[in-house]
Amino acid sequence: MTPGMLFAILARLRALRQRERWERARLLAYQSQALARTRTHACAHSPFYRRFHRGLERAPLAALPVLTKAALMEQFDEVVTDRAVRLADLETYLDGRPVEPLFRGRYRVCATSGSSGHRGIFLFDQGEWAAVIASFARAREWAGLRIDLTHQVKTAVVASITPWHMSSMVAATGRSWWMPELRLPASAPLETIVARLNMWQPELLVAYASMGHILADEQQAGRLHISPRRIMLSSEVLTDAARRAITGVWGHVLFNQYGATETGAIAAECTAHHGLHVFEDHVLVEVVDAAHRPVPLGTYGAKLLVTTLFSRTVPLIRYELSDSVRMSAALCPAGRPFGLISGIQGRAEDILALPGVHGDTVRVHPLVFHNVMDRVSASGWQIVQMPDGLRVLVTGLPEDQDTMELGRAFEQALAEQLVASLPVRIERVSTIPKASSGKAPLIKALHPEPLAEKAAP
Ligand SMILES: [Zn+2]
Repeated sequence: MTPGMLFAILARLRALRQRERWERARLLAYQSQALARTRTHACAHSPFYRRFHRGLERAPLAALPVLTKAALMEQFDEVVTDRAVRLADLETYLDGRPVEPLFRGRYRVCATSGSSGHRGIFLFDQGEWAAVIASFARAREWAGLRIDLTHQVKTAVVASITPWHMSSMVAATGRSWWMPELRLPASAPLETIVARLNMWQPELLVAYASMGHILADEQQAGRLHISPRRIMLSSEVLTDAARRAITGVWGHVLFNQYGATETGAIAAECTAHHGLHVFEDHVLVEVVDAAHRPVPLGTYGAKLLVTTLFSRTVPLIRYELSDSVRMSAALCPAGRPFGLISGIQGRAEDILALPGVHGDTVRVHPLVFHNVMDRVSASGWQIVQMPDGLRVLVTGLPEDQDTMELGRAFEQALAEQLVASLPVRIERVSTIPKASSGKAPLIKALHPEPLAEKAAP
């Protein structure tokens, strides 16, 4: 990391710390000024927004149209405010090897998985990236891990190692600075993860929520022996069952955070553990129903609309995330001025329990399947566990994609998990079946583990 970058992150972090002590009225005034600057910049420099918001330049935020990921990616070249950036060049850059650290020597590029239909690509210049890193740093500080140059926290991260995944990009920035870090792919065999964690003995463990649950079970079973001071979970819905398992073995060390590739951290748990405070000076959120109407406090919305107050290269104004969030009217006993999320319902994915090569049962993390599907450009997929194997339903798979080859990729990935050989059948379908909830689960276990009401931290 360059000294300029370090300086930019520390400056951002100092500003975030100051705003945490503000009164709510002052915070909201700041937010509304930051929103006005964001909108003015977008309309001045993005042909897309000039058109999208025409006649609405003075309208309240809630009157503006909603931006979906599909619309954003279709009109990307017009959305981006740097007129020299082209989506086609970005695609080439992302598919290229070896990986250049910066696109055009200037932008960090993060991509979201294509599993939800469209691959999303997001660019961050130095200032924007500093804002993203500072947002994650704030979440860590709230967990009691103050960030400065003299105190490092021995960290283990069990997450995606796909280089374009935001967690990898954030890690690449942080590694050299605030944390000596062990990074393990969540898709590695559990035995390996457990052995490496036992050797490393992290003070801070960062993981996907479902992996946190799996590791708590390993500790309970006597195979894992670590005593982290803090555990930070993200990227997935944290179930009550996972929270209970983790608290049961390690005590009250758990801090949940919520974020997205598009935004950086959106919200995090404070030491009062009464929910997740929204970083309202970093991103503005609106909880809405399926028709994009606001829902009252205490009610789950169907979507979350986010407006990133720090973005200039790819402005996101009323950008739709498919997470269902419930806000609370509760105030923070520690005096933070931010609104509170009291529940998040995301896409909880089943963990498949499959027979292992040693006659045991292997629990396969969803990321193993994501890693395989991220390599093909399908528009949707679903894995269904059958008594005698797995069915993989795929939509929008290119004609020239060999389904046998895809099946072998699954078998290979499962073999690496020490799963006993089992047939994987790839099926081209026109639509993915939805559950009674209206959501299309990506992974359907034969006997799903009972999951309690989700994420009421
Ligand atoms: Zn609080």
